Amino acid sequence: MEALSEFELIDRFFRRPARHAVLGVGDDAALLAPTSGCELAVSVDMLVAGRHFFADVDPEALGHKALAVNLSDMAAMGASPRWALLAGALPNADAAWVGAFARGFFALADAYGVDLVGGDTTKGPLNLCVTILGEVPAGQALRRRGARPGDAVFVSGRLGDAALALAHHRHRVILAADELPQCERALLRPAPRVELGDRLRGIATAAIDISDGLVGDLGHILDASGVGATLELAALPRSAILNQRLAGDERGLALDCLLAGGDDYELCFTAPARAAADIGTLAEQLDLALTRIGGIEERGGLLVRDENGQALQTLPAAFDHFRG
Ligand code: ADP
Ligand code: MG
Repeated sequence: MEALSEFELIDRFFRRPARHAVLGVGDDAALLAPTSGCELAVSVDMLVAGRHFFADVDPEALGHKALAVNLSDMAAMGASPRWALLAGALPNADAAWVGAFARGFFALADAYGVDLVGGDTTKGPLNLCVTILGEVPAGQALRRRGARPGDAVFVSGRLGDAALALAHHRHRVILAADELPQCERALLRPAPRVELGDRLRGIATAAIDISDGLVGDLGHILDASGVGATLELAALPRSAILNQRLAGDERGLALDCLLAGGDDYELCFTAPARAAADIGTLAEQLDLALTRIGGIEERGGLLVRDENGQALQTLPAAFDHFRG
């Protein structure tokens, strides 16, 4: 194993020319010049080994995911991601590991024109913390509080495959060899919906990214907006792999994955009925499923109707680090 010093490691893997910053990595602080007329959207996410990922995960996939979860937060706000900071505790300075991590991180950063402008590097139990800064035209950010009775509830992509992969690793379900890669990809290589978030400004009344499961995350929109919702289970977009479990002995687990599986990084958003055509066009342009899954109501609470129109009596709980 090639072990590097702290500064060799930063220089070799994390010091890149900053294209959209006045000053990037290398000084005591980065210097940024925000676009006039925009607000800064700032968010931070921590990934802890053994908690958010397996310690022996492919480092390139981890590099991708560490940034992807942050880009997803920008998408949920309708903000364009611009700058990132990376704070990492590493058990050792293994050049091969850090190199692969950096490849995954920068491939995604480059795809969205995000500059890594700083960070902190220390020895310790594997833990990665990315701070992201984005820009959004003043007053136009997508918030959780804007859902109104009569709005439709939409979700992007498909739900539950990432949770299904995790359930497989925990031996709660057995995925076949031809099923695992698709679910693993959802878990390890989530595609942040940045373009969707950008295009939803002016269309969506509220938005959130589904990192902790649909029920819990939509619940945040409902709480913030002071409204309720009814969802149709039959409408929830899912893979054939999940659908098959939903119809069989593993229905309970499949319901958990679909309704409360974390790590989906899709957007859940609300929009008035008149926006349906625009949203259909958007789905075509982005080549991304945008599915209407229910509606917002005045009455509080969340109701999910099953395939027969009956309300589910219990809903799976959202993921909570201190309860889960
Ligand atoms: P300071 O001691 O002033 O906090 P450091 O010596 O920790 O600075 O870091 C030196 C430079 O390298 C700083 O510009 C810092 O932002 C950057 N940096 C440190 N670690 C990382 C990292 N993992 N990714 C990107 N930049 C980093
Ligand atoms: Mg300093």
